[in-house]
Amino acid sequence: MISTKLDSKSLIALEDKYGAHNYHPLPVVLSKGEGVYVWDAEGKKYFDFLSAYSAVNQGHCHPRIIGALEEQSKKLTLTSRAFYNDMLGPYEKYMSEFFGYDKVLPINTGVEAVETALKLCRKWAYMKKGLQENQAVILFASGNFHGRTLAVISGSVDPDSRGGFGPYLPGIQIIDYNNLDALKEALNNKNVAGFMVEPIQGEAGVVVPDDGYLASAAALCKENNVLFIADEVQTGIARTGKLLATCGNCSCQHNCENNPEIKPDILILGKALSGGVFPVSAVLANDDIMLCIKPGEHGSTFGGNPLACAVAMAALDVVRDENLAKNADNLGQIFRERMNGLVEKSDLVTLVRGKGLLNAIVINDSPESSTAWDICVSLKDNGLLAKPTHGNIIRFAPPLVMTEEELHQCCDIIEQTILNFTS
Ligand SMILES: *Cc1c(COP(=O)(O)O)cnc(C)c1O
Repeated sequence: MISTKLDSKSLIALEDKYGAHNYHPLPVVLSKGEGVYVWDAEGKKYFDFLSAYSAVNQGHCHPRIIGALEEQSKKLTLTSRAFYNDMLGPYEKYMSEFFGYDKVLPINTGVEAVETALKLCRKWAYMKKGLQENQAVILFASGNFHGRTLAVISGSVDPDSRGGFGPYLPGIQIIDYNNLDALKEALNNKNVAGFMVEPIQGEAGVVVPDDGYLASAAALCKENNVLFIADEVQTGIARTGKLLATCGNCSCQHNCENNPEIKPDILILGKALSGGVFPVSAVLANDDIMLCIKPGEHGSTFGGNPLACAVAMAALDVVRDENLAKNADNLGQIFRERMNGLVEKSDLVTLVRGKGLLNAIVINDSPESSTAWDICVSLKDNGLLAKPTHGNIIRFAPPLVMTEEELHQCCDIIEQTILNFTS
């Protein structure tokens, strides 16, 4: 080891001086990850209980995914879509079959996939639904998080995401989340082309809608010839105990065919699609929708690159072969049971909610207080990394490769930290 390595304090100072200040990280500098663990620059080991916002579902540096990355990186990494490459076709077939759609449009980041879905929905509305040019409206749910582009923040109600970035994109209407009457009313407008929705609102604080909401919303959309667009960037790829959060109660783990009523017309995936190795995202739809976009109308230099294809197939192989959906389902139940025990014992935690291993606890203090942040700093000192979302809520989303024993260790850390916490 070279001994000129910088310590955490100097590394934080570097980011502060030379990096834009568009984030406020917890004060921990990570330099290594393996499975459910990460290590800081001083070599201290932590449980990762955020998983890079559910991008690292398969665990850090999964050997199978890294193996695919290494192998492909020596052969061919990028061709652009000016030419065919020998990985894209096999990947597209794999993806379409894995998720049960006719076709996939490969792209890079989550928000680009959301943008792609919005464009696809508008194009479909003019070509197939017969709306007049420039009239299409896409519904968004309040409390949403779909990323950071101008189109996407135009559909946000979060003042931090949105404030100071206007003017906003027209053709967007925001309705209440988890409110079928609001959706019904909005659907009276014949110019509505699509409804963009997260099956569980992750950034909003793991807000789980009522049972049946998604199925009824999808049915209402169908009745009104409106596309039901599911943003599963965070909830997808086994996080909530099923391959997809919109995949009904089926245990097929391969596609949503068993529950066609909540099969989204457009499915958006990202984050764990690459196991957190690098940005890979995708939009899936059937031919009647997907073929509305023609050559030259949409794309990205890196979208569908051979390296991404190899990595994503390995990442999905891992999800299937290691039964990560089942594990997330089992461990999630144990986690909520343990946290409900804590709710009984501590006045500091008012409730736990979530599905699979996407959960959050609500801290008994105002969203403006620093209590949740201070608890996360204590958790860090005790060897577990999590981050507050929306003030007084702490999201807990460990890698899905966690064992039951490790989960209990983590619950012990959370319990001890909260029971001993003094502000
Ligand atoms: C993270 C996230 C996005 C944006 O993904 P990026 O890769 O950060 O652009 C979109 N939708 C949801 C639900 C997300 O959680």
